[in-house]
Amino acid sequence: MEKFGIAIHGGAGTILKSSMTKEKEIAYKSALEEALEAGYKCLSDGGSAVEAVKIAVMLLEDSPLFNAGKGSVYAADGSHEMDASIMEGKKREAGAVSAVIGLRNPIDAAYQVMINSEHVFLTGRGAEEFAKAQNCTFETEDYFHDQLRYEQWQAIKGSDSFQLDHSVKKDEKFGTVGAVALDKHGNIAGATSTGGMTNKKFGRVGDSPIIGSGVYANNETCAVSCTGSGEYFIRNVTAYDVSCLMEHKGLSVHDAASEVVHKRLLALNGDGGLIAIDRHGNITMPFNTEGMYRAMKKSSGENEVSIYK
Ligand code: ASP
Repeated sequence: MEKFGIAIHGGAGTILKSSMTKEKEIAYKSALEEALEAGYKCLSDGGSAVEAVKIAVMLLEDSPLFNAGKGSVYAADGSHEMDASIMEGKKREAGAVSAVIGLRNPIDAAYQVMINSEHVFLTGRGAEEFAKAQNCTFETEDYFHDQLRYEQWQAIKGSDSFQLDHSVKKDEKFGTVGAVALDKHGNIAGATSTGGMTNKKFGRVGDSPIIGSGVYANNETCAVSCTGSGEYFIRNVTAYDVSCLMEHKGLSVHDAASEVVHKRLLALNGDGGLIAIDRHGNITMPFNTEGMYRAMKKSSGENEVSIYK
C-alpha cells in the first residue's frame, strides 16, 4: 500500500494546562479529531492531498473554537476579515484570498481561485465577488459573533495594539488553522486559514494567505502550514524557508522545520509554530510557544492529538 498521512493545527500560543478545563480540552481534541479523520478518510479513499487539506480546514473553519471562519477574531473596526491559502506540490498551483468578509469557508474561496481563475491571489471585494460567482457560501454577520472574541476585542478596542488571538488571555480560545497532507499518489499539499489578530487594522494581511510565508508545497521537498505572529512569518518567508533548507542544505523535514521555528523565528522574537510533511510521509510539528493545537495520522498507524509541549 502507498504511504499517506495528514497533519493539522488549530493555532499556537500561550496554551497552559493549568488554565484549561477538562471539558474545554475534550472539546478541542474532538474538534481536531473530527477534522483529522475527515481528511484521513479522503486520503484513504484515494482522494488527493489538496482535497484532504481542504476538507480538514473547512471543518476547523466551521468550529467556533478556532480563529478561522466562524470563530474569527474582531478587527479594529469590528469586522471579521479573513485570510486563507492553499497550495499543491506537484505543479505548485496555489490560490489565496485575503481580507474577505462574510465567507463561511475562506479556504473554499482560495481553492476556487486556484482551480478556476488565472490568478493566484485575490483580495477584499474582488475576492468576495469571485467567490460569489463560484457559489461559495456566505453568512450574515451574526454567524461570526462570539462573546469571548467580542470581549477580547473590547479589551483593546480604541488602542493601537493588536494581538495574537492566543496571547490575550491565557484561558481563551486559540487559533489559526491549517493542514498538510501526502496522498497515495505521492503528491503533497498545504492549506492555512485565519481571522488574523484581534484589533488588527482593517486591511491588515497576515502571513496565512501569503504563498511562501504561511503556506507552501513542493513535491520535491515538503508542504507547510504556519501559525503565529504573522508579521514575523512574512519577514522570514517561513514556509518557503523550510523547503529551501531541505532543497539547498539537504536537511530532513524535521531538522529544517526545527531550525526555522527554534532559531530563525526566535532570532527576531517571532512566536508560533508550523506543521510540515515530506513526500515520504514524515511529519513534524514544532512550535516555540507554550502549546499548539495539533494532530496527525499516518497510514503506518502512527496517530497523535496534542495541545501542550
Ligand atoms: N498567523 C496569523 C496572522 O498573523 C495568526 C495566527 O496564526 O494565529 O494572521
